[in-house]
Amino acid sequence: MASMLQHGVSPTPSNYLVWFNFHSDATPGLRPAVEAGLNQPVTQGWLDGLYMQFFAAEREALSLQHVAARLEVAVNEAVGLIHDAREDALRYGGTLDQASKRMTADPQELSSLLRRLLMETMEVSRRSEAAARNLADTSRKTQELQTELAEARHLASTDPLTGLANRRQLDETLRDMLAAHRPISLLMVDIDHFKTVNDQHGHLTGDEVLRKLGGLLTELAGEGVLPARFGGEEFAVLMPGGALRDAMSFAERIRAQISQSSMVIGQTGQSLSVTASLGVALASPGELPARLIERADAALYEAKRSGRNRVCSDPPEAPPLQKPENVWN
Ligand code: GH3
Ligand code: MG
Ligand code: MG
Repeated sequence: MASMLQHGVSPTPSNYLVWFNFHSDATPGLRPAVEAGLNQPVTQGWLDGLYMQFFAAEREALSLQHVAARLEVAVNEAVGLIHDAREDALRYGGTLDQASKRMTADPQELSSLLRRLLMETMEVSRRSEAAARNLADTSRKTQELQTELAEARHLASTDPLTGLANRRQLDETLRDMLAAHRPISLLMVDIDHFKTVNDQHGHLTGDEVLRKLGGLLTELAGEGVLPARFGGEEFAVLMPGGALRDAMSFAERIRAQISQSSMVIGQTGQSLSVTASLGVALASPGELPARLIERADAALYEAKRSGRNRVCSDPPEAPPLQKPENVWN
């Protein structure tokens, strides 16, 4: 608590969770992430980012469990109602059957039989009306829960800052596509010198740059392309197609767009430009997701090493074929 006070961290439950784990070193990777941000004034946005990055998965899992449990109750209720209705129908069928037999055996009993049948029919009708009301109620509850479940699923697969797919969704899609032997390329996009943006303009501006870049990737993504936030200031784009050259030219378009757009930041209307480096890898048949990510990362590292604001690929793309000289001239 003393450390929270010292750094101006508000004592909310999520901040406390972050701070407790930071000091107790109980969460791998949290300490360096907090220390990296502490040379800046602490903002709630930054704290929320840490919470989402390190602890949101647990919260989402809990919320999904909660919805699933309630859905199970509602479904059990519906099954119970249907079972009761079936029992009623069977019993009523039995009564009709008995009555028809006795009618043929003893026509004198007709009037008392008809009275019994009438009462039984009214009772069954009353019960089925009640069952229909209960079933409608249960169906409404189930629909509400389905909406909640869809929202929880969306939350669990979305990055809250940019609205892009998160790492989990990217990993799942990548795994499924590679398992289905679909031809794909993976592009890794990393903002150049982003630490300087944070240092010079603050974390909130940094966050806004990340959001704008997310928007730009969404705009550029065509049919079947999945842009995602990979983590921190790194993005990934999964694109269909089996030609490295196509992936390279898409990456080049992304690079050019980022370097050409100046982003207007905050209410001050201040404008800011960033560049990004990109690494591209074309999946080879049977390749594992981790290996494809590793190769795209290696290409990204090469783009950084060779000067930033550029696209590299793994394997490096051969330079375009030279046109043969026209020997007749
Ligand atoms: P390079 O060109 O080599 O990529 O340099 P860099 O400064 O971009 O890379 P580095 O890995 O040194 O720094 C990344 C910075 O990104 C550090 C971290 O504080 C910042 N960052 C990561 N996630 C967020 C976020 O959600 N919001 C903000 N504002 N900053 C973030
Ligand atoms: Mg960077
Ligand atoms: Mg980085």
